[in-house]
Amino acid sequence: QNEKYLNGLQEKIEKFDMHTVKNLDRFEDFPITENTLKGLKENSFVSMTDIQRNSIISALRKNDILAAAKTGSGKTLAFLVPLMERLVHEKVTDMDGCCALIITPTRELAVQIFEVLTKIGRYNTFGCGLVIGGKDFKFESERINKINILIGTPGRILQHMDQSVNFELSNLKMLVLDEADRILDMGFRKTLDSILANLPPERQNLLFSATQTNSVKDLARVSLVNPVYINIKEDI
Ligand code: ADP
Ligand code: MG
Repeated sequence: QNEKYLNGLQEKIEKFDMHTVKNLDRFEDFPITENTLKGLKENSFVSMTDIQRNSIISALRKNDILAAAKTGSGKTLAFLVPLMERLVHEKVTDMDGCCALIITPTRELAVQIFEVLTKIGRYNTFGCGLVIGGKDFKFESERINKINILIGTPGRILQHMDQSVNFELSNLKMLVLDEADRILDMGFRKTLDSILANLPPERQNLLFSATQTNSVKDLARVSLVNPVYINIKEDI
C-alpha cells in the first residue's frame, strides 16, 4: 500500500509537466505526500510563494538548485518541503544517521529553520537537530548520530566533523546552503570548503541566497552540479 503510494508519487514527479508550474497556486497541486501536506496546512501554509512554486518541483526531481529571492519571500519552505519529501521517498529511519544537512549563517536562523521543520514535519518521523555555537558541545555530540536532518552554523558543523566520533555523513543525500550570500559575507568560505570536501559527492545540493553576488556564483561553481537556476525578481 505505502510502497504503491510512494511509487505513484514518484511517477507523478517524473512525468510532471513543467509548463504548468506557473499556473499552480497550492502546495497540494504538487506531488507531495499527505503527511507533509497535512503539516503544512495545519500551520496555514496553503498557497505557495513564487520561490516555493519554482523550487519545489525541481528539487523533487533531484536537481541541484541555485536560487535567489529576497528576504521574506519564503525560502525556508522552498527547501524544507523537498528535503522532507526526499527522505520519505528514501524511507529514511533513525538507523540511517545524517541524511540531510542544512547550513545557515547564524544561530538565530538555525533555530528558526528548526522550528519551522518541527512544525511542518509533525507527521513525519525524522529526527532533526541543531548544532550551533554557544550550546554544550558534548550534549550535541552524544546525540548527533540519531539525527537525520541536521541544521547548523558552519563553524559548529565543522567542529563536529573534526571532533565527534559518532558523526557519520556517509549517508548524506541532501545539502542545503541557506543564505549563502551571508555565509560568505561573514567569512565562512574556508570553513564551507572544509565541510564540502568531506561530504559524499553524489548528494543533491540546494543553494539559496537573497542576492546573486559573484562570491555566491563562485561557491555555486564548486558545490553544484548542473543546477537549475531560479531567480525571483522583485516587482518594481
Ligand atoms: P526568507 O527565508 O526568504 O527570508 P522565510 O522562509 O523566512 O523567508 O519566510 C518569510 C515569512 O513568510 C515567514 O513568516 C513565513 O512563515 C511566511 N511564509 C513563507 N511561506 C509562506 C506560505 N506559503 N504561506 C504563508 N506564509 C508563508
Ligand atoms: Mg531565510
